[in-house]
Amino acid sequence: MTDTRTVGVLGTGIMGAAMARNLAKAGHTVRVWNRTRAKAEPLAADGAHVAGTPTEAVRDADVVLTMLYDGGTVLEVMREAAPALRPGTVWAQSTTVGLEAAGELAALAREHGLVLYDAPVLGTKQPAEAGRLTVLAAGPAEGRETVTPVFDAVGARTVWTGEDAAAATATRLKLVANSWVIAATAATGEALALAKGLGVDPQGFFDLIADGPLDMGYLHAKAGVILDGAYLPPSFAVATAEKDARLIVQAGEAHGVRLDVAAASAERFARAAARGHAGEDMAAAYFASFGDGSDDSGGPGESAEPAGS
Ligand code: NAP
Repeated sequence: MTDTRTVGVLGTGIMGAAMARNLAKAGHTVRVWNRTRAKAEPLAADGAHVAGTPTEAVRDADVVLTMLYDGGTVLEVMREAAPALRPGTVWAQSTTVGLEAAGELAALAREHGLVLYDAPVLGTKQPAEAGRLTVLAAGPAEGRETVTPVFDAVGARTVWTGEDAAAATATRLKLVANSWVIAATAATGEALALAKGLGVDPQGFFDLIADGPLDMGYLHAKAGVILDGAYLPPSFAVATAEKDARLIVQAGEAHGVRLDVAAASAERFARAAARGHAGEDMAAAYFASFGDGSDDSGGPGESAEPAGS
């Protein structure tokens, strides 16, 4: 077997487009489909074939890569595409889904004789564009050589978590990692909101924790978005982060684990979304700290958004 594959990519949003581009760059034959075709069109310049339907995108594929919004979306799109696939086709499922949906997707794969890899990714827009994601993968060891070149094109590293995609060990690890990402995002937004409310210069806070164990690159990345008001384009949108926070809470509940911070974060994302920030970077959860959500005021005693001020 050569190292190049025919890959059908379903979903060319923030992450899917970057992944498809890197697959094409690595020499794979790439066919892409996106619900909103205009978002897939630019990939033609990278050598990808832009398909009009999911079925067209996956025809003759060695590997199908799904990078859609959530479990329900993947089920809907793959129910349409799967009948066009020959049994034994590899399906790399990278969308972040909940544990219940992961089970439904595994059942769909079984029904159509597809070889499923539960393969969520860690890393956001910029690492996706650089082909430096971390792929978390669970699926059969036998035949991995089919999917490995795909993971290698989109990621800097693949972390194998098991051989049974239906057990969703990769998705479990991804949900744990995202609970950390979401908590750090919420903590960053609240620290900056409190600093603003108390009249504390954020730089004083950064200087205080510099070079100590409380400092972290992620704080500076998300605080930078807030302080610069650079919410667009998003690396990870508020609405998507709310979806993930709720998946995390549900996964905890299903296993007897109460997750107050994730639940509160979901509410913060929902409040920010309701105030018009759904499509902005998840750092915009910051706005949930101000006003009562019934108006568009951006900060204490202000009528404009406080970003950068
Ligand atoms: P995104 O830009 O919003 O892309 C979502 C994709 O899903 C788009 O292609 C969208 O199509 C499609 N979609 C949504 N609803 C659909 C429906 N009903 N039918 C068909 N297609 C539908 O989001 P993203 O940031 O790339 O995230 C994609 C997945 O990766 C999510 O599960 C997310 O949690 C996960 N993830 C994201 C990041 C990140 O940092 N952004 C990192 C790791 C994992 P349209 O273009 O037509 O809306």
